[in-house]
Amino acid sequence: GSGAKEIVYDGLELEVNKMKIKFPTQLFINGEFVNTDSGKTLTIVNPSDESVICKVQCASVSDVDKAVVAAKKAFEEGEWSKISARERGQLLFKLADLMEQHKEELATIESIDSGAVYTLALKTHVGMSIDTWRYFAGWCDKIQGTTIPINHARPNRNLTLTKREPIGVCGIITPWNYPLMMLSWKMATCLAAGNTVVIKPAAVCPLTALKFAELSIKAGIPAGVINVLPGSGTVAGQALCDHPLVRKLAFTGSTPIGQKIMASCAASNMKKVSLELGGKSPLVIFEDCDMDKAVRNGMSSVFFNKGENCIAAGRLFVEETIHDEFVRRVVTETKKISIGDPLHRGTAHGPQNHEAHLMKLIEFCDRGVKEGARLIYGGKRVDRKGYFFTPTIFTDVTDDMFIAKEESFGPVMIISKFSSKNVDDVIRRANNTEYGLASGVFTRDVSRALQFAERVEAGTVFINTYNKTDVAAPFGGCKQSGFGKDLGQEALNEYLKTKCVTIEY
Ligand code: NAD
Repeated sequence: GSGAKEIVYDGLELEVNKMKIKFPTQLFINGEFVNTDSGKTLTIVNPSDESVICKVQCASVSDVDKAVVAAKKAFEEGEWSKISARERGQLLFKLADLMEQHKEELATIESIDSGAVYTLALKTHVGMSIDTWRYFAGWCDKIQGTTIPINHARPNRNLTLTKREPIGVCGIITPWNYPLMMLSWKMATCLAAGNTVVIKPAAVCPLTALKFAELSIKAGIPAGVINVLPGSGTVAGQALCDHPLVRKLAFTGSTPIGQKIMASCAASNMKKVSLELGGKSPLVIFEDCDMDKAVRNGMSSVFFNKGENCIAAGRLFVEETIHDEFVRRVVTETKKISIGDPLHRGTAHGPQNHEAHLMKLIEFCDRGVKEGARLIYGGKRVDRKGYFFTPTIFTDVTDDMFIAKEESFGPVMIISKFSSKNVDDVIRRANNTEYGLASGVFTRDVSRALQFAERVEAGTVFINTYNKTDVAAPFGGCKQSGFGKDLGQEALNEYLKTKCVTIEY
């Protein structure tokens, strides 16, 4: 791209906290911002004051088809298919630089759209996104196959080699908790591998994805390589899963929808699938832990990003000998969490993402109380405008309770006791779930920590830390938390196919 092309779109310009922000509100198909052919729009609400931010075009089945056809053309015939892997890397580095230049704007948009606290949006939602683009930009020219000695009589007149090839048009469907980061984790990997993409961001939080689309033009990513289609799951999401020209579908979201997606992908054309689904991650805290660290990490394991965190620790098992002290300290610290306007620099805890999610949380906590768990802090909506929910702590939770089994996806700490006389028992309880996303353990006993790491059924294990994700480390679950990794070298496999070539000479 020349980079000089003027970018035209219908969008919104706002001044928020003395910062000018501007973003498109249209679909992004084949390098252009366009309206849907259905006439439908999505209403985007600011969760901190319930005001309507804007309306965004809502993609139809035929919009999805147009985007997929454009992506296929870009993959097969466009500039993207002709440039070298190293040039592709340079484009992705440039995109990362542009995101960096616009990071405050992106963080502000993410904050008003998703309710994420601005400082966290800047560091994690946007910061880790930029990191991800750079990490995968670096991979573009390092994707390579192998040569393999095949078992033939000598002299062996064969050369067998593998080629790592892009798959083609990939569909990406993302949730609302880290809108830009989920986009980046998947799309950076997908493009580094040489594919083209159609993404459907979550219907409630599509704004940073649209701003990102604008930046992608500025970076010179050729038309059709990236298509962004805000829309509903049941229409645009489903259409992406059903489309016969889409060859790979990457999804992050809930387990029930993941199940549907896998079935649709199988039925339509057997597209390759990767699924990052729900979790109810166990965190086990032993008596011999560093208590300060356990309290600090125990809190962030649950309350980080107001609990809208896929790897959030959904169950805390605390050794009975330190249980009361741990609870007392956690309650004291939780009372100090400042709840309020996510744009305000002193705020630690913003509103939940949207109204329906808040209602689900209220119901979740009511159910815990009815089941006989002890609600010792929070558990209710904050008395102010916006979808604010107090950080919440339950103790005396038994494994058979609904709140011990189901994901809340909110700031709800679920604590139960265990006795270290029986380590096997707590590991069995930790594994007593259909989920297998993350896990954690706090102990100074190395053998015990490693034993836990070996036996826990989870894609991620944190020892004496929590939430420590990095772009270089593979991320993703097992069991019904899904399969296929995001991040790290391993994630590239999700967007590549291997071709084996044998030559007789
Ligand atoms: P969701 O499953 O309801 O929706 C996720 C996405 O799928 C959205 O874009 C939605 O529009 C789309 N969708 C819905 N129905 C569809 C259908 N029939 N066909 C195609 N697409 C469809 O989840 P959510 O409420 O947005 O997100 C919360 C969930 O995501 C939680 O369960 C959480 O654990 C999970 N999550 C997991 C990870 C992870 O990495 N494992 C990360 C973040 C969130």
